[in-house]
Amino acid sequence: MTAAQKTSMNTAIYSHPECGRHDMGEWHPESPARLQAIEDQLILARIDGLIERRDAPLAELPAILRNHTPGALALVRDNTPTVEGETYPLDGDTLLCSHSYQAALRAAGAALAATDAVIAGSIANAFCSIRPPGHHARPGEPMGFCLFNNVAIAARHAMDSHGLARVAIIDFDVHHGNGTAESFRDDRRVLMCSFFQHPFYPYTDPEPFTANCVNVPVPARSKGDVVRQLVLEHWLPALHAFEPEMIFISAGFDAHREDDIGGMGLVEDDYAWITTQIMSVARQHSQGRIVSCLEGGYNLSALGRSVVAHLKALAEID
Ligand SMILES: [Zn+2]
Repeated sequence: MTAAQKTSMNTAIYSHPECGRHDMGEWHPESPARLQAIEDQLILARIDGLIERRDAPLAELPAILRNHTPGALALVRDNTPTVEGETYPLDGDTLLCSHSYQAALRAAGAALAATDAVIAGSIANAFCSIRPPGHHARPGEPMGFCLFNNVAIAARHAMDSHGLARVAIIDFDVHHGNGTAESFRDDRRVLMCSFFQHPFYPYTDPEPFTANCVNVPVPARSKGDVVRQLVLEHWLPALHAFEPEMIFISAGFDAHREDDIGGMGLVEDDYAWITTQIMSVARQHSQGRIVSCLEGGYNLSALGRSVVAHLKALAEID
């Protein structure tokens, strides 16, 4: 059996060209070039042909409205400019261009379709190479480069449409996933595990550890050893006790040491290690089901290399 045959039914990448048309301006770090950088590194690493590609459909609005208020949906839909080249600022660093609403529907649609495919068993796991990202998007308003909360929307779909009783959301972006935490506060069906640089954007107070929230603040300049230790000490015991039926990952790569947006010191091996730990939990409790969605990561080279490390672990490519 060749490597291609071995992996083709296991891991899929969901994306869509429209995700690359959401453009907040040349100055903005959350740029279309991020998805191209990922593609370039997949080719350089010679794994682009080993992982199945699937086009993201547009998300259905009822799926978005399971996590967001009609007002939040309207803020994005109704303020998207109709003229090419125009932008509309939702806040200081979250802008809409004429392609933003479509891109946001594709991003959420990728997470939803990946969830359907993983639960159906046609693939073991999936990575959604999408933008705009999602984990800062609050139920009631977009925020922090994020329009709709792709992971939260997909997690609700897994529970409400597919009947899953327990899902875990793991967030390894350098920033706190405040939108996701707000979506599932006190929802015992969801366990959220994260680490995040603190104090740092979005400057929300870290939640106390609760039965469904293991969000660990870490100081700036923390490296992989600190993160690996907190995964072993905090995430893994909570995940094993929770026994999730499926695992979602908010996969941000801005804690990389080459990423100037964050102030942490992770490297590609750390992302591979974290992914391998998550894979082990998923195999034990979740039938291997994982849907991972791109969040941050702004140094283009480090982003691409880190996604390669993450994908190689998901697809079990040596
Ligand atoms: Zn981030």
